[in-house]
Amino acid sequence: MNAIVKLPPSCGAVCERPNREEVEAAFRTIIRWAGDDPARDGLAKTPARVTRAFEEYFAGYAVDPATVLSATFGETDGYDEMIVLRGIPFESHCEHHMAPIIGRAWVAYVPTGRVVGISKLARVVEAYSKRLQIQEKMTAQIANTIQEVLQPQGVGVVLKASHHCLSSRGVQKHDTDMVTSRMLGCFRNNPVTRQEFLALVK
Ligand SMILES: [Zn+2]
Repeated sequence: MNAIVKLPPSCGAVCERPNREEVEAAFRTIIRWAGDDPARDGLAKTPARVTRAFEEYFAGYAVDPATVLSATFGETDGYDEMIVLRGIPFESHCEHHMAPIIGRAWVAYVPTGRVVGISKLARVVEAYSKRLQIQEKMTAQIANTIQEVLQPQGVGVVLKASHHCLSSRGVQKHDTDMVTSRMLGCFRNNPVTRQEFLALVK
């Protein structure tokens, strides 16, 4: 199954997506390069397993986050206060080392009329996390998409995450997490709204 996929503009063109056999062969190469024998019993099925794992890590490329948010509900009796989904766990991979980024997301918005099912907010976080990422960009993407699709009075997003490229290689700093935020609309302009949201981020 050699699907043709459109990659981001940085790719320069429409690229041909490698098939599963090519990916498994690449992992056998990495095992050989590490100094082990990909044919020995314990490693024989590893390239296939790692390929399936990578399929999960990067499943977000197949999801359009705007579509996730397209089903909204209008029968809210005029509800116009903040809606916050707190501590959504996510696992991503940094685009510099392909090392895990493990964290939680707080996502809030103040609706203008229509609201979205809360599981959809979690699915937007998942769609952007299951890609090669940097935390700053992921934070902005989540907020921007909610703002563009739902057009609420404002959006607030906070991400807290530990980066394995920091803890397991390089400077090896453990117990460090990174906090990023993006505030739009009333979350950016109104200090009271911003404070109300940040007080709910623990
Ligand atoms: Zn990294």
